[in-house]
Amino acid sequence: CGIIGYIGNKKASNVILNGLKRLEYRGYDSCGIASIFNDIEVRKNVGKVLEVSEKENFPEMNGNIGIGHSRWATHGKITKDNSHPHFDCTKEICIAHNGIISNYKELKETLIQNGHIFTSETDTEVIPHIIEEELKKFNELNEENYILGIQNAIKRLKGTYALLILHKKFPDMLVGIRNESPLILGISKEECFIGSDISAFLDYTKTAIPLNDMDIAVFNKKGGKNIDLKLLNNGKIVKRDVLKL
Ligand code: GLU
Repeated sequence: CGIIGYIGNKKASNVILNGLKRLEYRGYDSCGIASIFNDIEVRKNVGKVLEVSEKENFPEMNGNIGIGHSRWATHGKITKDNSHPHFDCTKEICIAHNGIISNYKELKETLIQNGHIFTSETDTEVIPHIIEEELKKFNELNEENYILGIQNAIKRLKGTYALLILHKKFPDMLVGIRNESPLILGISKEECFIGSDISAFLDYTKTAIPLNDMDIAVFNKKGGKNIDLKLLNNGKIVKRDVLKL
């Protein structure tokens, strides 16, 4: 399984499709891409990257920010609905996840009691719904609260994860988080990458930043050319080593 995110000036679906191919050696049963262009569009299915791309037409997807996922099913059958990325109820929060959420049953029960509707059998799908709940607690949703809400949401998760997050209301942002699943940033002048390993983006940059457990990487394009990167851990700004490969 593998994960790849892109933010920059290229067409995200092309870069992500290439990254998914590079990550194929890790093994998977289904794959999908989400890209943000006015709305968040998700295309996904069961099968090999090229088969799914042909069926769903990944290259047709517009936008310069996106996330991709190849799934090795752990919870829920190998189906289109169970493939990633997954949405919350509002279809504003979109997530790709590698790993296992070990307390998903309790979380899902509570969420269903609170009126959330699920469309898959995965453990993963609780994550966008938990973030949705946390964001609803704010009177006003701004960038700061968005990140705070994500921090509060992951406090409720147990298990392992490499997570990529898109939000319709923050179309210039890409967020990544890891806990006991690999996640590494690829940095270049006007574009950034985030993947399960460096092979996902080595075609584009040789500058990488490995994340520590519970690090949150926040990329922000803010309509400008340059991408702002903030690394947080436990609510504090942190610095991580930059590797030249
Ligand atoms: N546990 C998740 C699922 O079954 C993610 C699996 C993965 O790491 O690909 O959908």
